[in-house]
Amino acid sequence: MTAASTVAGQIVAAGRALVAAGLSPGSSGNLSARDGDLVLMTATGTQLGDLSAADLAVLDADGRHVDGPKPSKEVSLHVALYAKNPGHLAVVHVHSPAAVALSCLAPWSEESAIPPLTPYSLMRVGQVPLLGFVAPGDPAMGDLITDSPHPFRAALLANHGAVVSGESI
Ligand SMILES: [Zn+2]
Repeated sequence: MTAASTVAGQIVAAGRALVAAGLSPGSSGNLSARDGDLVLMTATGTQLGDLSAADLAVLDADGRHVDGPKPSKEVSLHVALYAKNPGHLAVVHVHSPAAVALSCLAPWSEESAIPPLTPYSLMRVGQVPLLGFVAPGDPAMGDLITDSPHPFRAALLANHGAVVSGESI
């Protein structure tokens, strides 16, 4: 089994790719992926471009820390997005400059922060609501996702950044 074929290896590779693409400045952002009944998540304060499998926290499906380093303070965000999209196996949250800039603007509509600028964005991403502001790490971040009446796989967090879930990392 190669490192890239494990869930941990996929998270490590995704972290490098996000940083290389300029989507995760500094030590911001966090990633998680389901591994059977568990969830592997980047630890608090880690640099996504310099991860190793030992840097990943192990959580149960409810987000309780069961092994490894302390997880990111944004666990509730990930747990809530998995609950909203039960078939999804990964969650990515970044403070990419473009997403942060858009998250500071008034939303285009209640269902989507941005208009459907291209057909591809609508097909691949769908509606992207702007969720209200809560301080990073506040467990209420998860409530913003749980309480939203709209279906979505990606959202902008007001004055903060973006979160997205998918079938793979
Ligand atoms: Zn954040």
